[in-house]
Amino acid sequence: MNLSSSLAPIVDKLKELGVTAEESNISEDTTATNETTTTKKITYPYEFLLRIPKADLHIHLDGSIRVSTLIDLAKEQNISLPSYDEEELKQMVFPPTYTSLVDYLAGFGYITKVLSTKQALERVAYEVALDAYDTGVRYIEVRFAPQLHAIPGKLSIEEIICSVNLGLERAVKDADELDKLSGEEEMYNNRYNGEYNKDTVDKLEMLFSGKVHPYNAAAPPHHYGIICCAMRFFLPDTSPYYQAFWEVHTGEDQHRVFGLASVALVQAITNLREKGKCCHGCGSSSIEKEETEQQNSDYILPIVAVDVAGAESGYPASDHKEAFDLAHQSFLNKTVHAGEAYGAESIYSAITDLHAERIGHGCNVFKWEIIGEGEGRGGRSKSNKEKDEISDEEKQAYVENLTRYLGGMRTCFEVCLSSNLQTMPKLNGDLRGHPARKMIQEELAVTFCTDNTLISHTDMVKELTLAAEAFELSPGQLRNCVYNGFKRSFMATKRYRAKRDYNRKVISYYKNVESEFGFSGYSTE
Ligand SMILES: [Zn+2]
Repeated sequence: MNLSSSLAPIVDKLKELGVTAEESNISEDTTATNETTTTKKITYPYEFLLRIPKADLHIHLDGSIRVSTLIDLAKEQNISLPSYDEEELKQMVFPPTYTSLVDYLAGFGYITKVLSTKQALERVAYEVALDAYDTGVRYIEVRFAPQLHAIPGKLSIEEIICSVNLGLERAVKDADELDKLSGEEEMYNNRYNGEYNKDTVDKLEMLFSGKVHPYNAAAPPHHYGIICCAMRFFLPDTSPYYQAFWEVHTGEDQHRVFGLASVALVQAITNLREKGKCCHGCGSSSIEKEETEQQNSDYILPIVAVDVAGAESGYPASDHKEAFDLAHQSFLNKTVHAGEAYGAESIYSAITDLHAERIGHGCNVFKWEIIGEGEGRGGRSKSNKEKDEISDEEKQAYVENLTRYLGGMRTCFEVCLSSNLQTMPKLNGDLRGHPARKMIQEELAVTFCTDNTLISHTDMVKELTLAAEAFELSPGQLRNCVYNGFKRSFMATKRYRAKRDYNRKVISYYKNVESEFGFSGYSTE
């Protein structure tokens, strides 16, 4: 979840939730509560989880900045931080666990402040992607809310998106080069003969240092997509852009203002996509680059989807219906943070009002007991009176029908375990009670994602380690969840065939790594 601009309602939410959960601490000998466990629990080596190709479909740019970069950028821009020492700042602002939501949100405040120049956005996008590629992520969809960073008259939504795009593009080039160099032992042996520049020598040193890394000349190449987030809620002091927005819409209903801001965002994205080119002229590293060069045909700018983030409670998806209708009409993909504060109805509203093709989190999807609690939040109940009139059986049937529909449509749940441990105190630090277990059992499309690597102290290897451990995933189940990330991606290819061919490369490489570690032969079912 991206909480950066939604302070007040999230503070309420946290109070509602109570104290945040402790970090997961699942020991090897933990006995699972899953009654269907029949096979011996498998422990996957770190190196295996590092080397399998992975997709991360839900990662927030701001929540995944390097601490060292936050300090650098704050110094450059004269922004005050509680400490300029990396370790100290981590302890003060980004501890492993948060005792209050105010603490949890403080970090986002500093990060948003430094992400207010084109250079800062480009740098952070580059580093976030490269850090992901260093953990064996091959495809990443990075999301951020451009209106949080925009400054009217100074930094436009278009410039923000283009700066991020430029950084992501540079990361792909560098990561692909690391793959290539990883097979160049001869170059490594001759690295000091003066033929190579310092950068190449450094890369060779890193690749051949004996430390395990995911780079491999035979691995599928790296790719990315950009998801732009609208915010469910914002205040005038959330950002200079939102301040200006509030000023020109003084006196209007706040829900209408949230909706209008989303329309403005989607319109800006649509304009950019129509141009087909970023203001820097970047974007040429799409999957079809070679073909593009050969045939001189247009590449596809990888701005793939819109999302709505921020506090759900009191700020319904339906506020953004007009914006998401526009996105839908413009053939943009849609993913929606839903089912965190509310349950099935919020997810229903995301897929009907906002045409969501994927769901961020969706943790409360099975909670039929809370149906009706989000009054007027779309879906089953329209009022508290009606809530009283719905029987338990009707509520249960509603959840069953909804989940059957979601499973059939392969609407993918972007599950972020470390993040949920921080925001779902009911888990009590124990992921065995996380709804992803049931999602997998019920054959919903589930993929694991990081959400915020800095805020949640995680990466994709850690997320898969947690998932495999808590849900006792068989190699087939693990493979299924990883494949879902590629299959349900919004990859920007001109034709479907390019995505299919890419996914085939992913599958074949995954199988090779599996057989190397002795995990082949398990069915995907
Ligand atoms: Zn999120």
